[in-house]
Amino acid sequence: VPTGTAQIGVTGLAVMGANLARNFAKHGYTVALHNRTQAKTDDLLARHGDDGNFVRTETLEEFVQALERPRRVLIMVKAGAPVDAVIEQLVPLLEKDDIIIDGGNSLYLDTIRREKDLAAKGLHFVGVGVSGGEEGALNGPSIMPGGSKESYQSLGPMLEDISAKYNGEPCCAWIETDGAGHFVKMVHNGIEYSDMQVIGEAYDLLRSGAGIEPAEQAKVFTEWNTGQLNSFLIEITAEVLGHVDARTGKPFVDVVVDSAGQKGTGRWTVIAALELGSPVSGIAESVFARGLSSQRDQRAVAQDTLIAGTGDVQVPETFVDDVRQALYASKLVSYAQGLDMLDLAGKQYDWDLKLDKIASLWRAGCIIRAELLDDIMKAYAPGNEPKNLLFAPAFAKAIGEAVPAWRRVVATAAQLGIPTPVFSSTLAYYDGLRRDRLPAALTQGLRDLFGAHTYNRIDGEGTFHTLWGEDK
Ligand code: NAP
Repeated sequence: VPTGTAQIGVTGLAVMGANLARNFAKHGYTVALHNRTQAKTDDLLARHGDDGNFVRTETLEEFVQALERPRRVLIMVKAGAPVDAVIEQLVPLLEKDDIIIDGGNSLYLDTIRREKDLAAKGLHFVGVGVSGGEEGALNGPSIMPGGSKESYQSLGPMLEDISAKYNGEPCCAWIETDGAGHFVKMVHNGIEYSDMQVIGEAYDLLRSGAGIEPAEQAKVFTEWNTGQLNSFLIEITAEVLGHVDARTGKPFVDVVVDSAGQKGTGRWTVIAALELGSPVSGIAESVFARGLSSQRDQRAVAQDTLIAGTGDVQVPETFVDDVRQALYASKLVSYAQGLDMLDLAGKQYDWDLKLDKIASLWRAGCIIRAELLDDIMKAYAPGNEPKNLLFAPAFAKAIGEAVPAWRRVVATAAQLGIPTPVFSSTLAYYDGLRRDRLPAALTQGLRDLFGAHTYNRIDGEGTFHTLWGEDK
């Protein structure tokens, strides 16, 4: 094994690691390869050894020796305990200033912990959010690196090289210290959940409300993809809806079991949001909707037990375009909520998060890539920085135009008995934000009565408690 020649090493050569390794190689880097199970390394070399310069290694010792100093070791193993296990094996083999990179979907709290531990040992630890799935990993993902700014000097240019490009600009930039990259990737995934849920709600309304079959809907989504909603997820929705099952000749969506899986990043986003006090209702409802979809036993009982209580419902003539506008508005609110959550997290973890930069990284390579993100980036340009995305003039106007249709859709959905948890909850957020007086004043009164939790008054400073039940 040649010593000290590889600019980067990848350990963990399942689909993501293998594709990132090939991506580095295609960009002219020499890549050392390692996998716990040797067969995976050899399989990669057998199939794609021609993609560029690879160094085959069998042991972690060989792997580490193959790297030039300071070493850059990219770990692409299963998130959780395996990452700790690999770090533990690597540490005795590494030297001061070497960089360990975790490109998996690790929980940001683990990344914060690992960074602290490794910094104490003189090593850099960089948690990197990578989005774009297999295809992105190979041809250009969106990359969200955390870790020390110093480590980015050595690592950043390589990551920028292999990242997706939007109009030639790399979709990779240093986010902030320790777990910031993984945090931002986590929120990206949360937004991805809500993006998919609002698409699902639109599909359900068009199908059950307007009677539009999947093949016909494929055309509707293709049309929508040419406007405001233009995005990767809308594009592939048209593809999935247009797909006919080869075995039965039925629409593909009709032969798929309707319970949605989840790997956990949406749930993490919501847990983090709850701890930050961040009202990400769109993301939360999307996670809950997947949970409900998975409760198939209860859903079966409900078929015969719970009545609809719906009467004759007149679906508005404008329904299809109303649904498009509702989808756009609720998607916008979900983004606004997710970005607001990043703002709160920045304050909590002392990260100077630049929302314009973060939006810019999501414009290409990742699953939520969309034209909208370019506008979001512009809305947060230095000097603008609205307190909430919806306050940016362009978005306040856009959502204002959509809101009458959005209300019609939510009202019609309720009358039809079609669940629209994200369309509805984001509208409630929008209205909650707008509201002059919220019933939280009553909540405060109740809390003061039963628990002496006190309240503030609108007409003066200080904390008050009423002596409830006393005459005066
Ligand atoms: P994966 O299925 O999550 O993990 C498989 C890899 O982990 C194999 O190389 C396996 O080695 C290794 N591994 C597991 N436990 C290990 C241990 N204790 N010690 C050493 N190696 C261990 O692989 P993946 O789908 O390529 O994903 C890698 C990471 O990227 C994950 O964090 C995932 O969440 C994230 N990610 C995935 C996608 C995606 O689309 N798949 C997208 C973005 C991010 P063996 O071959 O020896 O079993």
